[in-house]
Amino acid sequence: MPRKLAAGNWKMNGLAAALAELDTIAAGSGAEDGPEVAICPPFTLVAAAAQRAKGGLLVGGQDCHAERAGAHTGDVSAAMLADAGARLVILGHSERRQDHGETDADVAAKTRAAWDAGLRVILCVGETLADREAGRALEVVRAQLAGSVLDGASDETLVVAYEPVWAIGTGRVAEPPQIAEMHDALRAALVDRFGKATAGAIPLLYGGSVKAANAAEIFGIENVDGALVGGASLSAGDFLPIVEALG
Ligand code: PGA
Repeated sequence: MPRKLAAGNWKMNGLAAALAELDTIAAGSGAEDGPEVAICPPFTLVAAAAQRAKGGLLVGGQDCHAERAGAHTGDVSAAMLADAGARLVILGHSERRQDHGETDADVAAKTRAAWDAGLRVILCVGETLADREAGRALEVVRAQLAGSVLDGASDETLVVAYEPVWAIGTGRVAEPPQIAEMHDALRAALVDRFGKATAGAIPLLYGGSVKAANAAEIFGIENVDGALVGGASLSAGDFLPIVEALG
């Protein structure tokens, strides 16, 4: 069984004052027998967050460059994230794919850089509404997985997050059968590629409008090992009940 993980993605939210919220999240999580808990704040807060994170709270980045260093104005490398205290990095989020044109090959290259820096990758995959309505959700997500997961992945280096694009920040959650079907397909694809033991230990997260009110139902679905949470991770009052529902 994979270790469970509740990961918060703060996106482009959070000034220094938000670190107090992180302290409360840290205080309310990190039980040894509970799920792993991570917060991925904006780059500007990673170092401060990692210094303050107590208990088992993990801090992660939301993206990294594919190179270790160089002439890339405005970019941040995986080595820099690790140096700032990050342990994880989200890659291939649909907002990166949409806003910055990231391809599966880009995500694969970033994954290599993240692994070289010792970071665990939370790889995001997910179909658009048009994909789903055209009946190609499974095909699109399988292709994203095949195109961006590198050989040698294990539970120590990889977490996969299924985030249907139409469910992100919309308040619209995928139906349990849709989540179950996709998570089954993801697990099967990982088993084909890495074998049962390795694939069975890689956590599969669901993401897209997860909140306290729907978390328990989502976590009851087979092959759902946690959540990647956007809006509801910004406040401890919203996020900790999700961690508890996973526990
Ligand atoms: P949301 O975002 O929980 O606000 O829908 C999830 C995500 O984009 O990771």
